Parts: sequence; C-alpha cells; structure tokens
Amino acid sequence: MNKGLGMSRRTMLAGGAALVAAAPAIARRRGHADAARALHDRLVCLDTHLDVPMHFVRPGWDIMRRHSHDTDFSQVDYPRMVEGGLDGGFFAIYTPQGPLTPEGMNAARDTALLRAAAIREMVARNSAHFALAFAPDDAARLAAQRKRIVYQSIENSYPLAKDVTLLRGFYALGVRMAGPVHFKDNQLGDSATDKNRTWKGLSPMGHDWLALCNELGVIPDASHSSDEVFDQMLAGSKTPIILSHSGCRAVHDHPRNIDDQRLKQLADAGGTIQINSLSEYLVTTPENPDRERAQGAIFAKLRGLSAMTPAQATEAVADAAKAMKALNRQYPVPRATFEDYMAHMLHALKLVGPEHVGVGCDWDGGGGVVGMEDCASDWKITARLLKEGYREDDLRKIWGGNVLRVLKAAQDGRTKAPAPVASGGGGE
Ligand SMILES: [Zn+2]
Repeated sequence: MNKGLGMSRRTMLAGGAALVAAAPAIARRRGHADAARALHDRLVCLDTHLDVPMHFVRPGWDIMRRHSHDTDFSQVDYPRMVEGGLDGGFFAIYTPQGPLTPEGMNAARDTALLRAAAIREMVARNSAHFALAFAPDDAARLAAQRKRIVYQSIENSYPLAKDVTLLRGFYALGVRMAGPVHFKDNQLGDSATDKNRTWKGLSPMGHDWLALCNELGVIPDASHSSDEVFDQMLAGSKTPIILSHSGCRAVHDHPRNIDDQRLKQLADAGGTIQINSLSEYLVTTPENPDRERAQGAIFAKLRGLSAMTPAQATEAVADAAKAMKALNRQYPVPRATFEDYMAHMLHALKLVGPEHVGVGCDWDGGGGVVGMEDCASDWKITARLLKEGYREDDLRKIWGGNVLRVLKAAQDGRTKAPAPVASGGGGE
C-alpha cells in the first residue's frame, strides 16, 4: 500500500521548516492515495495481455512466490497481483513466428498446445487462488470468491498451421480472444512490423479465420496486425474487435500503434484499445544493432530452459538478468516513464472516451516503464486517472467492463450455436 506515494526524496532531505510547511500537502496526497487505492480495490481489474504463461514452462517457477523483474524478468505473480490490485486478465498462448513450412507450423502447433496445457496446470495446481474463466459473467463471480481470473487468448495464430478449424480445439480449451499475427507476416495475414506486406491484409485463410472467430464467439484482436489487416478485420467482423495491447500513433509514431482515425472507427464499431506499456512503442528509442546482437546472445542461452533442472534454470535466468544489467550500462537506452504511458492512455480517453479504452500492459512480454515496472504498480493507473477527473464508473469500464462488453458481444453475436465444449466449460 502507498508504495511510491510517500514523501519524495527531496522533501525528506529538506530542512525541518520546509517539512512542517509541506506537511498538509503530504497529508492531502496520502489521503488521495488511500482513497484511490480503496476505489481500485472495489473494481474487478483485468489486463488483456499477460504473457505470464511463458514462465509456467520454466522448471521450478512458482506463481505463488514473489519474484522480481530485476533478477528473473518476471512481472506478474500472485503476491504482486494482490499488491497491485490486479484481479486477472487474458493469459496469452504466445508462439514466436517461425518458418512457414509444414515442420515449422507443426512445431508451433505443439508449442501452443503445451502452453495451453501449462495454463490449465497452473490453475489446477493453485485452484484456491486462480480459476479459469470462459464467459463474461465469470469475472465478477470469481472476483467475489477472491480468485484471480484466468481468461485465455492466442497471440499469433501461426500454430493453426494450414487448418483454421484447429481454432475450435483452442476454443474448447477456453480461448476467447485471438490475434492473427505477431512480428512477421504469416499464413493468415500481414504484421505491423513486417515491411513485406505479403497479402496486403488478411490472406484467404485469414478471412476464414475471422469468420470462425465470429462463429465461435472469439474476440478478434488486431494488436500486431498491419493497418490493412486492421481495416479488413474491422470491416469483416460481425462483432467488435479489440486492440489487446497497443498505443496511439498520435503520441508516438510506431507501426505497433494505431492512428486516430482508425481508433475512432474501432470505437464507433464498439471495440476497445487496451494501452500497452512497452517502452519502445511509447517513446523514441534509437536503434542499436550492437546492443540488439548482444541481447540476442543473452536470451539465446535461455532457449533450453524447459529441459533444465529447477536449480539450473534459476541460475541461467539469474545470469541472464545480470548480463542484461551490464548491457544496460554498456548501451543505455532511453526508457519510457509512467507519464509517457499515461500520455497514450489519456490521448485515447480524450479521443474515444472511457467506454473504449482499457489496460493491456504486456507484462512479461516486454512491458514496463520507469515508475511502473510490474503489476504491483497497476493501481497507480487508477490514482492517476482519478486525478485527471475520471470517476469510479469510468474506471470500472477501463479496468475490465469494456473488454467484458466486447466478449459478451462476441458471444451473443455467435453466427452458429456453440459447439459442445470438450471439458471444463462450466467455469471452475
Ligand atoms: Zn505482443
């Protein structure tokens, strides 16, 4: 509680007289912080892009223990979710883009299925504290039971290989949101960060994928998609689409962000943008190939992690964290601050209003800014928005109401009756 909102260092160093003079202001600030925290705790807070499952396949990693980004790159665990007032969100089944060969696609399919299984195993192992969620109403029901809420999403549909109907299987496992691409164009369509523009939008399979999302009641997610794919998803989807972790191009011109005109179209269609905290998308970061090469070498050493013993894995990750710190000293990069993050959120809020903006910090996927390094700081967003004049009702929408409205629209708008779910469809 009140982490980061106590006296500033300068105030502490000032003389006694200054301290006495500052006392009412400090007390007022404390009062605001306490009120913000109390309000935050009344909300059901969901983040629409959590890359936490990547840690689930790490030997010995336990979500019930407190970790630190500084020593093991982790930004979400149960203790920090409680501290930050994060009730849950969409846990991503993420697969990196690989070769578009049968071997590459089959390997990706297996990786994604293992990731989906790892999510279920984590929840089963910690069923007193976590529960799978499938329907929009599950969030409030599970929050009332004081359980953390685990919806599932797909980041990069490359694992569907050549068979779009595999999405039915992922739906049966609980997936309720899916995006077609990641950093590179694939068999479904074009990526925002791939200059090739292979398909000039969605591929024929990508159009089938979108229709199947609508048929099943899966929210189509246009984060990472090219502008053309965004346009085609918006035009083709029978229900609102989402940007699960994106920013505003008007604040920082980056292909991963969305321009104002498209943002307005997204809102007009009932969708929502969930603001990403990945520094490179928030502020200008000069390219440094030497740094990138060195960083690639550090992370390459973690590739065999899942085959290591818990002790080996812990040591390898700690070594990598140390190496990253040294790299940051050798090649410092400008990092976005909490205010830079809020600049994107406030711009979106001004443009399209609190019915169409939310939170998708990209924790464990590259998110994190100075002043908001992990999910323990999530409640600061509430405090900042209250300062800006937003009210509890607005915050309820921003922190989860909007994405659940979009999920309800996806489920209500199903173009066919839902297929029977293989298992676990009831909620617990
Ligand atoms: Zn992403």
